[in-house]
Amino acid sequence: MSRVNISDLFTNINYGTMAPNRKYALFNNREESVPIGSLNILSAKYESLDYEVVENYVYRDEERKKGYKFVVKKNFARWVTFFWIGLITATIGIIIDLSIEVIAGFKFSHVKKSIDNCGQYNCLWKPYLLLLVFNIVPVFIGSMLVSYVEPVALGSGIPQVKCYLNGVKIPRLVRIKTLFVKVIGVITTVVGGMCGGKEGPMIHAGAVVAAGISQGKSTTFNTDFGAFSYFREDHEKRDFVSGGAAAGVAAAFGSPVGGVLFSLEEGASFWNQGLTWRIFFASMISTFTLNSVLSAYHGHPGELTFWGLLNFGKFVDFALSYTMYELPIFVCMGIIGGLLGALFCHLNYKLTVFRMRYLVNPWKKVLEAIFVCSFTATVGFLLSLWQNSCKPLGLDPTKDPLQLNCNDGEYNSMASLWFQVPEASVRSFFHDPTGSFDSSTLALFAIAYYSLTVWTYGLSVSAGIFIPCLVTGAAWGRLIGNSVQNLFPATDVGRYALIGAASQLGGVVRMTISLTIILIEATGDITFGLPLMITLLTAKWIGDYFTESIYDVHIQLSGIPLMAWDPPSLSSNIYASEVMSHPATVFKSKETVGKIVDTLKKYTYNGFPVVDDVYASETEEGNYKPNGRLRGLILRSQLIVLLKNKVFNEVPAAWDDVTLTTFRQDYPRYSDIESVEILDSERNYTVDLLRFMNPSPYVVQHMASLPRIFRLFRAMGLRHIVVVNDSNEVVGVVTRKDLTRYREWRHRGQIGVEELKISSKI
Ligand code: ATP
Ligand code: MG
Repeated sequence: MSRVNISDLFTNINYGTMAPNRKYALFNNREESVPIGSLNILSAKYESLDYEVVENYVYRDEERKKGYKFVVKKNFARWVTFFWIGLITATIGIIIDLSIEVIAGFKFSHVKKSIDNCGQYNCLWKPYLLLLVFNIVPVFIGSMLVSYVEPVALGSGIPQVKCYLNGVKIPRLVRIKTLFVKVIGVITTVVGGMCGGKEGPMIHAGAVVAAGISQGKSTTFNTDFGAFSYFREDHEKRDFVSGGAAAGVAAAFGSPVGGVLFSLEEGASFWNQGLTWRIFFASMISTFTLNSVLSAYHGHPGELTFWGLLNFGKFVDFALSYTMYELPIFVCMGIIGGLLGALFCHLNYKLTVFRMRYLVNPWKKVLEAIFVCSFTATVGFLLSLWQNSCKPLGLDPTKDPLQLNCNDGEYNSMASLWFQVPEASVRSFFHDPTGSFDSSTLALFAIAYYSLTVWTYGLSVSAGIFIPCLVTGAAWGRLIGNSVQNLFPATDVGRYALIGAASQLGGVVRMTISLTIILIEATGDITFGLPLMITLLTAKWIGDYFTESIYDVHIQLSGIPLMAWDPPSLSSNIYASEVMSHPATVFKSKETVGKIVDTLKKYTYNGFPVVDDVYASETEEGNYKPNGRLRGLILRSQLIVLLKNKVFNEVPAAWDDVTLTTFRQDYPRYSDIESVEILDSERNYTVDLLRFMNPSPYVVQHMASLPRIFRLFRAMGLRHIVVVNDSNEVVGVVTRKDLTRYREWRHRGQIGVEELKISSKI
């Protein structure tokens, strides 16, 4: 297959040429080389989702037969499904939270006992070894599961969910097996004392729950409950997954509105009012369930005081009031957060490239995870011993402060930070009465935690990045707060810790609106909204100037064809005829079985334009000449279902039986063409494609500009567009993936664009 030779087709049309000063790379050169060898193989495994509803004859038939009652039933089923999504996502959150609390409590109490029993330097190796064992065992289990059983459960899962909502099918992303590995993985990572959080993975967990419930079947268990079969379509599933992701955010941060905004900001290209309400409903149910169960568990049934897994705790009344003179300080903190975030993304990018090159085998990944885990424990232990940070007991809100290396009546404030779950450290920074953390403690802790987080993100374990960023940011934020307090003694440093946390997180993940709302909801105080917004915006702008967000860095490195938000700038002089693949392989509206089978075996294309029989004449290679007049578009998956069920004109019985259910049965994993058995005698039978094709696919004229095609793909969630000439004759096909090659790299140079070039073999 070749790129279109424009002059052959339309000799009289003057096509634009590329502007010489264009800032972005257009990867439409089919010979482009890819230094990271695995990139093309990786990207080839990601297929696009298709959100287009095929309004063919069988679809209309179902709509007519089932009538309005069915519309009401389906709508009701949607609400019920969203209810369950909220409830089950929250339940998973509760399981994760309580397991971590119990296991981490057990671990800390034993280590504390061992430290208390020791009291002198020469026997401190005992608690150290104990700590190592307590950390390594869970991390080993988690890392083995992620490396050997389900690698897609690695990390927080947010980049992958983002891609799913963007329209890319990530294999095994929403399977129950993935969920199991994720849940166990997160528990083990947090219990193992690594710099990872449990909040990000909740979003992935919500997405899996949503996909599982709405489809009424499980591939992992090989069972089909037969329920909700009418939701077995990409666009229905995508809506539910958006709801699941939102419910995950809601459970993680106690932030139902933040959840809705997350789904809106991060993904879904279509959005409508009904969907917003349903997603909000799922988020609300999720927050409410989590809140009531955790409140009851912690001895306050009915009080609803545990809003989310991440709880910032209650700020003292005056703590969050701010004055105008502080706003410039917050802006400066935003700048620091943006710079630190950009550095974070850059370092982690280099590290990930290294991992992709040299740490390919699963056992190496497990070893690396164990090494980082031991290193984290050692750093924490040594810093606690080395840093003389003894404070009088009773200042820190930590439940069980450690005396390690301090006199009676004192506790070691550095140790209290390392020997508790990171959420508790965040709370310590936010609410500590002044004076319990020295500036040197804060600075050392921030540097150590920052570096360890850079190293941890991307390891073969399941863990999120929200909490480590909040902890690091809160530490350096508090450090700045200490300096401000020296100048203005009445200042509460807690709010500087909060701003630091926000700006560090904003600088790394770069979400703006949803993150602002998540933090406002987690803080529970709207008055502090403006400082948070200002800081997050500044951090995003500064960070974006230097690098992509950490999620985008990982998406690019894994070669996932993500569609950008906007078309590349200065591209309106690129036309459909330059972007499309040509010549198009098409079918006649009444096609022979032999021809269909041969074509499907020869080409891997997923969509084929259907043209008028009258205009289609075959070339020597067995293709039809271009310029058949367009009648519709048929998908590869539909053709395979038709062949498998032998829906041939010559077999009337099969013809009558075929309904939408026939197509849904195989969703989403359709058979391979090689496994479809066709007898020699059937090769001359015919299939009436008119009945099953999409009769009104999205079509553009050959002169349509790239931004226009881009917007159609983006807004409608399309997978294919057919390109026609002035007489409505098919001249080419453009796919969503074709367009993702046209990507504006904002950070050429900084982010190593050379290594990220996606080859034409996607
Ligand atoms: P995805 O597989 O995720 O849908 P894709 O771009 O790989 O995306 P395919 O249908 O596999 O889509 O097609 C591979 C390439 O072949 C694309 O570059 C596309 O433009 C081209 N192509 C697709 N369908 C046809 C067709 N019917 N005739 C000619 N070329 C086609
Ligand atoms: Mg393909």
